[in-house]
Amino acid sequence: MSNKNLPIEPQVLNRRQLLRRVVGNAAATATVVVAAKAAVAQDNSKTLVSAATQNTLTKRQAGADFYDFHGREAYAYTQKDGDLAEQGFEGKRWAMLIDLRKCVGCQACTVACKFENNIPEGSFRTWVPDVEIGTYPETRRAFLPRLCNHCERPSCIEVCPADATWQRKDGIVEIDYDKCWGCGACVNACPYDARFINPVTKTADKCTFCSQRVDQGLAPACVETCIGGSRQFGDLNDPNDPVTRQIKSGPVQVLKPETGNQPRVFYIDLPDQLQSNPPGKPTLWSQMFEDEGLKNPDDETAGKWMIEPIEEKGRD
Ligand code: SF4
Ligand code: SF4
Repeated sequence: MSNKNLPIEPQVLNRRQLLRRVVGNAAATATVVVAAKAAVAQDNSKTLVSAATQNTLTKRQAGADFYDFHGREAYAYTQKDGDLAEQGFEGKRWAMLIDLRKCVGCQACTVACKFENNIPEGSFRTWVPDVEIGTYPETRRAFLPRLCNHCERPSCIEVCPADATWQRKDGIVEIDYDKCWGCGACVNACPYDARFINPVTKTADKCTFCSQRVDQGLAPACVETCIGGSRQFGDLNDPNDPVTRQIKSGPVQVLKPETGNQPRVFYIDLPDQLQSNPPGKPTLWSQMFEDEGLKNPDDETAGKWMIEPIEEKGRD
């Protein structure tokens, strides 16, 4: 029950009672302020002490606690709502709309995503490449937020030999980290370079539209954090959803429409030069392999990246 509904007895105070109450409140406020200042001072001294000792602590590699937070059992809603995490919402079709006129390239979304999803250093589920387009003197800076498009026809799913990636009823494309063996077939099959091999788990990884948040009625972290209001999230099956209305009334564009994947990340004001040639480092499996210095098959570390048994980190 909200406070509004609590029965409140009307009180009539005379001037003396009123004065006493005001003075009493002021004294109480002053006490609280003094106590708060003392607490802050004590806290600051604690912070200084902990900052001094921090340097002596061994830091864990960013993302090393991936399994602590990505086990399905870690999400309370999984138990509460049955198979929602796996099946998604019946009748919904989640989509993202990114208005490039409002993107300022601040990377707040990039950081929010890494923080929300505990993505290791050097890997990204979403990122915002910035490029110069045009020819001098008609040049300009352009930002292009990138992520998994949660395609209507995802080419990543059909190539997976382990049956580890699937599409939920609401369109979100998911990965089962317990089933994925990190062969990288989906990384190569995605025409949007949206997938990568997570260097901690050695499994495929990518944006999930923050399904752990969406299932609880929250927007994806990147949408929540977007300072320009550039990113919006909605249900394409709901004709009254503001996102659906904007997409239906257009004009909107998608990346690489020629792939036939039918992406569900839509852009407003996508420059022609970037539509079929989106900027950003490709995540071709072969290139990642090379980047790891594992090119020479005689190298004793060759293949280690692919066939190393997955280290147990809280998995059964
Ligand atoms: Fe799959 Fe790539 Fe489409 Fe995402 S963008 S659903 S990873 S094909
Ligand atoms: Fe662009 Fe919004 Fe990401 Fe900032 S948070 S880079 S404005 S999409």
